Amino acid sequence: LSAHKSGRNTGLLRMSAAEATQNKETYEFQAEVSRVMDIIVNSLYSNTDIFLRELISNASDACDKKRFLKLTGKSDAGDSLSDTEELAIRVKCDEKERTISITDNGIGMTKSELINNLGKIAASGTAKFVEALKEGAADLSLIGRFGVGFYSAFLVADRVTVHTKSPNDQKAWRWESEQTKNFTITEESDPRSFLPEGATSGTTVTLHIKEGMEKYLNDFSLRQLLELYSEFVSFPIYLWMSRI
Ligand code: ADP
Ligand code: MG
Repeated sequence: LSAHKSGRNTGLLRMSAAEATQNKETYEFQAEVSRVMDIIVNSLYSNTDIFLRELISNASDACDKKRFLKLTGKSDAGDSLSDTEELAIRVKCDEKERTISITDNGIGMTKSELINNLGKIAASGTAKFVEALKEGAADLSLIGRFGVGFYSAFLVADRVTVHTKSPNDQKAWRWESEQTKNFTITEESDPRSFLPEGATSGTTVTLHIKEGMEKYLNDFSLRQLLELYSEFVSFPIYLWMSRI
């Protein structure tokens, strides 16, 4: 019950002067989200591979939503997909920077969607997840079924950045979290910096890989995992290889 109460407090926190000049806003995660992230980070669960499956499936969902808008032609958002633009998922690994990024040219998120989708969750979903974990009826690999798959990014990353642009928001946004109580939102001046050429909407999730998780900073292991997961995805997945 107390978790429910504090969950309602999610909102804009006071900004520091430095943050204000950068237009950086700090928000508090809903208590349920913090709980899920704690579980993930402290879990002894060893199959950390699932982060990629969850992020690819989110990218695929985002592409599906954009394709649907285009087909129905009901929304202006559908017009943002040109006839020549291919909906696709792009994965890049930068060994030196210790990052993996997953980019889609799907539907993206408006500022309020970003705050709601990656800061709050339906409490019932989390409660069920925590309950199932306790009872041994579930392990972390089932995280996607409880509507909290995104947070599996923290299995392998200690900092996650999300750049996104929705056709329903003139501005692009950057969300960032180091898996603490808070996340930040900053306006991003140029969506072209994180979208593929020609795309007008979409999302890039960048994982700053934790110490000890270097095995993922490797094109070949990423490729193996992607081959496994791409079977269930109806959009092409491109992998950037930094060396051959
Ligand atoms: P689920 O996919 O089951 O809804 P997740 O925790 O994986 O749960 O994701 C939470 C929400 O965040 C999604 O429902 C979606 O609205 C949003 N989201 C996550 N990744 C993306 C993305 N790449 N593009 C657009 N929206 C996204
Ligand atoms: Mg998901």
